[in-house]
Amino acid sequence: MAKDRPGLNTICTHIGEIEDTQFHGAVSPIYPSSSYAFMDVDVKRYPRYFNTPNQEYLAKKIAALEHAEAAMIFGSGMAAISTTMLSFLKAGDHVVVQKDIYGGTRNLIEEHFANFNIDYSFTDGLGIAHFESAMTDRTSMIYIETPSNPLLKLVDMFAVAKLAKNNNCMTVIDNTFATPIIQNPIDFGIDLVVHSATKYFGGHSDICAGAVAGSQEHMDSIWRMAKSLGGSLSDYTVWLLERSMKTLVVRFKAQQRNARKLANYLNGHEAIERVYYPGLDNHPSHEIAVSQMRGFGAMMSFDLIDSIDAKAFMNALKLIKPSMSLAGIESTVLLPAVASHALLTPEERKSQGIGDNLIRFSVGIESRRDLEADLEQAIVAVSQGALN
Ligand SMILES: *Cc1c(COP(=O)(O)O)cnc(C)c1O
Repeated sequence: MAKDRPGLNTICTHIGEIEDTQFHGAVSPIYPSSSYAFMDVDVKRYPRYFNTPNQEYLAKKIAALEHAEAAMIFGSGMAAISTTMLSFLKAGDHVVVQKDIYGGTRNLIEEHFANFNIDYSFTDGLGIAHFESAMTDRTSMIYIETPSNPLLKLVDMFAVAKLAKNNNCMTVIDNTFATPIIQNPIDFGIDLVVHSATKYFGGHSDICAGAVAGSQEHMDSIWRMAKSLGGSLSDYTVWLLERSMKTLVVRFKAQQRNARKLANYLNGHEAIERVYYPGLDNHPSHEIAVSQMRGFGAMMSFDLIDSIDAKAFMNALKLIKPSMSLAGIESTVLLPAVASHALLTPEERKSQGIGDNLIRFSVGIESRRDLEADLEQAIVAVSQGALN
């Protein structure tokens, strides 16, 4: 099946284009109508039915990238995630959720699932035995996110898919960090792939969107829930997302090239305690990374040594900006302990391996030597003789 699929760059540039038959322009027109004819038409189109021309066509690009039969685009990553989970989980069901998942997903589950009488267990670790021991006879879904945020821990997708199939469960993965450029979960037997398109798909820190991809049958179920929950994306933004996705491969690969070199620079630096990047062979899941990813991505984290104040380090950076979000073409850093993971107790953070000096680094497309120079000058500025 891979043979007749166009290459990644061709999918990004061309699949799902809408031909401008009227004026023969080079790019897809925007169809912003919220009202369409209903008589004598095959499809009753309406923005909240997720089937305006721009929504329908861009979904083809995402489906092609994810090796899926179909896809849908949502107003945010969380709209995609919540709609997907609620499309399949019923009262009385149990879902096994990977430890260390995106905070918003965790909040959705912890704050709301009890109201729907949906039971859940977070795994104690990321090994397949941890998933196995969390299963009950009511488990109907396993939800994973690999690589995870912020420590880039990996889960063996093939093993999870097999465990799920043996137990009649479905599987959902958040593929935001890897992207289909380096990881295709459906090829490993995972049923549904969700994305925060706010991140690499958008890539310029100016769009909030989400997506789900999977079999036509699963997408039909999701569509029935989606039109009731109403999390569709405006066609103006769908169009911007299409424009962004044309350069997804070139952006992502440039970011990944920078990341790989910067991980090597930081790894072994005397001011750095430890680097978390799946491409380093000292990463605990490096072997899994090699077995299921075609690259190691552009996200990493690192612990500064204790004598360096992490906030002072972030303030000393000049080019790399402290920022809540990630995956834009600009390099950003975040302190999980005071930002993304601030709501956890210090004990919970510790149990997840998130120390006070942990920096999450989203590597952008700037010239690598400027990024390295910025990191180096910030380290020198805050070390004050701590290094020799
Ligand atoms: C940002 C993010 C989300 C949530 O996406 P939104 O677009 O902010 O709703 C989900 N998963 C991961 C891994 C993310 O980084």
